[in-house]
Amino acid sequence: MTAPVLTLAGVGRAYEPGHWIFRHLDLRVEAGERVALLGPSGSGKSTLLNLVAGLDRADEGTVAVAGQALGTLDESARALVRRQSIGFVFQAFHLVAHLVLWQNVAIPLLLQGVSAEIARDRAEAVLDSLGLGGRSRSLPTTLSGGEQQRVALARALVHEPALILADEPTGNLDPETAAVALALIDRQTRTRNAALVLVTHSTQAAAIADRRLRLTPSALVDAAAGATGT
Ligand code: ADP
Ligand code: MG
Repeated sequence: MTAPVLTLAGVGRAYEPGHWIFRHLDLRVEAGERVALLGPSGSGKSTLLNLVAGLDRADEGTVAVAGQALGTLDESARALVRRQSIGFVFQAFHLVAHLVLWQNVAIPLLLQGVSAEIARDRAEAVLDSLGLGGRSRSLPTTLSGGEQQRVALARALVHEPALILADEPTGNLDPETAAVALALIDRQTRTRNAALVLVTHSTQAAAIADRRLRLTPSALVDAAAGATGT
């Protein structure tokens, strides 16, 4: 049996000793499974995604991605897991302003040592699949918010990661554009059998997930029965 794509066991984070943002979090996400993570502003959703991405360290418990416990790895080994197994979509897009679209999308491949030529071909193919085929030589500043989010999604998908992390990816989009972006995240993760952890305030966004969980200070709880996001 293959390992889950993501496992949390007893995970806690305190930015200051004794002041826990959350503790005792347990979670298993299998290949192809999509989880929505709900919770009010300040509850620690972004903190949790950063732990999963290996950008921050848990103060207790274990975070494992693709069978590798991140806490046992040094920085370069953690970076390797991140580059190979994770695609990250941010609310604020975080595109590099002076790079054209294909260059932005190719970054994960270039970090893996893929040649520039192959990286460009793959980046352009993913941009094409997201309806931006004609724009690969444009700069991000010439795009609408919805288009920029599609580029950010292309960058998160181009290296075919097993796990997509999306932190309020529709938070900066109008409702119509958000619906289009969500449909693309839905279809792309489904097609690739990627696991998805989607942080969102929006019930519309949470609807694409198989499971909806609420982050509380002491557990991840099933959100289906409780109130929806703020
Ligand atoms: P959410 O994404 O759910 O809004 P965050 O993970 O951003 O929540 O923040 C959770 C809590 O941790 C907040 O109280 C925030 O102020 C605090 N926090 C976040 N990042 C840091 C940091 N780097 N150093 C200290 N405190 C932080
Ligand atoms: Mg956040």
